[in-house]
Amino acid sequence: MSESLFADASKRLEQALKYVAISEDASTRLKYPKASLSVSIPVRMDDGSLRIFQGYRVRYDDTRGPGKGGVRYHPSVSLDEVQSLAFWMTFKCALLNLPFGGAKGGITLNPKELSKQELERLSRGYIEAIADFIGPDVDILAPDVYTNEMVMGWMMDQYSIIRRQISPGVVTGKPLTMGGSQGRDAATATGAFYVMNAILPKFELLPAKTTIAIQGFGKVGAPLAQLLCQAGYKVVAVSDSQGGIYSAKGLAIPSIQQYKSDRSGIKAIYCKDSVCNIVEHDIISNAELLALDVDVLVPAALENQITGANAAEIKAKYIFEVANGPITSAADQILAEKEIMVFPDILVNAGGVTVSYFEWVQNRSGLYWTLQEVNERLKEKMVAETETTWSIAEKFSVSMRTAAYIHGLNRLGEALDAKGTRDYYNNKSFV
Ligand code: NAD
Repeated sequence: MSESLFADASKRLEQALKYVAISEDASTRLKYPKASLSVSIPVRMDDGSLRIFQGYRVRYDDTRGPGKGGVRYHPSVSLDEVQSLAFWMTFKCALLNLPFGGAKGGITLNPKELSKQELERLSRGYIEAIADFIGPDVDILAPDVYTNEMVMGWMMDQYSIIRRQISPGVVTGKPLTMGGSQGRDAATATGAFYVMNAILPKFELLPAKTTIAIQGFGKVGAPLAQLLCQAGYKVVAVSDSQGGIYSAKGLAIPSIQQYKSDRSGIKAIYCKDSVCNIVEHDIISNAELLALDVDVLVPAALENQITGANAAEIKAKYIFEVANGPITSAADQILAEKEIMVFPDILVNAGGVTVSYFEWVQNRSGLYWTLQEVNERLKEKMVAETETTWSIAEKFSVSMRTAAYIHGLNRLGEALDAKGTRDYYNNKSFV
């Protein structure tokens, strides 16, 4: 049997622990999720039948603040996957110094098969089922794969109905009219763009000379492709679940985005046509996209895309993980031997949770920021934590992934210690 996603994710923690002076109590605590909830959600379908869906919410750690993490709708959602995503959120929030712990949720389904009404009943049913497990000061939801601001709006509304008070702070990534933040829709892409712009010049990779392939053309991959294209980078390939397209000259990203958005709205809220339907470019498979001879590869779809089985075929020199967990630990080793530099998910895609934090702050204060204010604050945080992670990697001669975990672990260890561990009480006396 293949190793679980969580067992693989935990290996990154083990590696970083070698470089961190945190107490044994703290490191032991971080190896286990704090709480996991599994729920059955009954949904009345449009044809009158009743269908039961399986949902999850995992709060991995809340030492530094309420749990924070997205909700995923996908056929592959399992407790193992949700737990791994919650684990990554814990380190991501600590790395960005956000006052949050890590959480995640999901429902196992193919959302493209449901009507919009069925999707709404399911989303509201999910909140009914987990209402006692979440809250603006307990655990805060956000969009992830195949959920969007419309779904977040339903969820916030349902939670407010249950609590009999308007509770915008329980969900981020909401529509602007329901207390959403300027810039949240493109925040993950914008944050990744700031990280790439901070890193690529270190290798003298100037936009016009840098070729980029992006796997996944969704809420994050598409706006990132757009930002890179606008900045003059040559985005030569993009793909979605159906396959990809390639042009050595560089793709006209705005026209591809227009093509996809013109065709949205089938069944419920998802785009019908694949990027492959744009015939003027060469059609390639997702496997071919990953193996393209480009400067930069950006996995922005799902986890486990680069594994021990295909890592040897990767030709890109730099990989920026926009998806969560796209590279397994076995692949990490092969890529390191090939001297391919990987910039990890918990840093590169942290723009989304950072602007989610800004949204939560705005909901609590009632004072709303402009897009410029949001993006300035986002840039400041992303660039500062990227540079600190870079310095840690240089100091210990470790990969950027291990450096990012070291950075997050130091903050988590300190917070766990402050709450009381054996070492904390042995080493400190009260004055
Ligand atoms: P999305 O559902 O909007 O888009 C996913 C994209 O990946 C779609 O284009 C889909 O067609 C494509 N895809 C699915 N399976 C594929 C496959 N096997 N090969 C190639 N493409 C495939 O999701 P998203 O919100 O853009 O999330 C993408 C990744 O980014 C996920 O790993 C998610 O956890 C991560 N992420 C998202 C956010 C956010 O704010 N949305 C924040 C941080 C991390």
